[in-house]
Amino acid sequence: MTATTKIANPRDIAHNVMTLIAELNLQPTPQVYHVFYSYLTDEIPELSQLIKVLIRNTQELDEETVFRIYHKFLGTHALQQRLNMGVEGLQAAVERVEEAVHSVLRETEGFCEHLDNASDQLSSDDITLEVARDVTRELSSATRDAHGRYSEFNGCLDEYHNEVRRVRSELELVRRDALTDTLTGIANRKNFDASLRDAVTTTMETGAPLSLLMIDIDHFKNFNDNHGHRAGDGVLKAVARVLVNSTKGADTVARYGGEEFAVILPDTTLENATKLANKLRDNVSGQRIINKKTGKDFGKLTVSIGLTSYKLGENILEFVDRADGALYQAKQEGRNTCIMIM
Ligand code: GH3
Ligand code: MG
Ligand code: MG
Repeated sequence: MTATTKIANPRDIAHNVMTLIAELNLQPTPQVYHVFYSYLTDEIPELSQLIKVLIRNTQELDEETVFRIYHKFLGTHALQQRLNMGVEGLQAAVERVEEAVHSVLRETEGFCEHLDNASDQLSSDDITLEVARDVTRELSSATRDAHGRYSEFNGCLDEYHNEVRRVRSELELVRRDALTDTLTGIANRKNFDASLRDAVTTTMETGAPLSLLMIDIDHFKNFNDNHGHRAGDGVLKAVARVLVNSTKGADTVARYGGEEFAVILPDTTLENATKLANKLRDNVSGQRIINKKTGKDFGKLTVSIGLTSYKLGENILEFVDRADGALYQAKQEGRNTCIMIM
């Protein structure tokens, strides 16, 4: 089955997508379905091309590969589509308002001509009562028409304002999505970078302490290899939940990359950050990982944590590198541990 197969009927597409997923021995998760739906309908040529090459080379299309393809092409594609829809809606509303403005201007010109004519006719010396009555009747009808057009125009403006409100809230959702990690629902890397810049700026202004934790799941590759990528995804969500539940509102818990998390701790001394890091480590290692659906017990996982505090005036990269260096040391010292670098 290839992307060039022309399939028009949505039922046929769904059937062919499911057949292909089964042929490739994949689980029909929404993301996997979306990738192969996109492939068979040739929605994104680059995605179709990539999958075609992978299938042709009989390279294994495992869940992890499909997951990466989904995020590379469809995560941003969906965002782009939503943005385009917002912009198109707004453009249509602006065009409707423009049309209404022109129509009101035309109407106003006509109305002025009517007024001029009426004024000429009424100021003539030999005007009869009959003519005066006709002129007044015409004027009153022209006024009614103009009023009607102004009401239409107002309706159009209301519609435009509603459209602007709708697009604004849609853009707010898109903005929030663009800053959120799709798997875990916590801040993504982009959000982390911006939040850290803000936190450093505040610390430079106020001199308040600022600490940073870098957290990495231990031997996570083994976990994925033993229990599958989907179970691994479940673990990432669970760890994110533990981190969020163990921190407070001003802290930013972010997915820094793959199986690595970061926590920005404003107004927190190195001493308090160390206490929190130990609490986080205990909270993760204290949980058994159980598949909610099947009840299967995957045992326990641990994390290694590196932490440090911001030194006034230093570069953000130096700050992050120091926390990373501490994490590296934690791994070297056997994992499931917290290392602090002053
Ligand atoms: P270490 O204790 O040294 O950190 O070992 P590790 O196995 O955790 O580290 P390594 O860097 O070798 O492997 C990281 C693994 O994390 C590899 C990859 O399969 C997994 N991973 C990264 N991102 C995701 C993801 O989004 N979902 C899943 N399920 N696994 C992921
Ligand atoms: Mg790891
Ligand atoms: Mg790692």
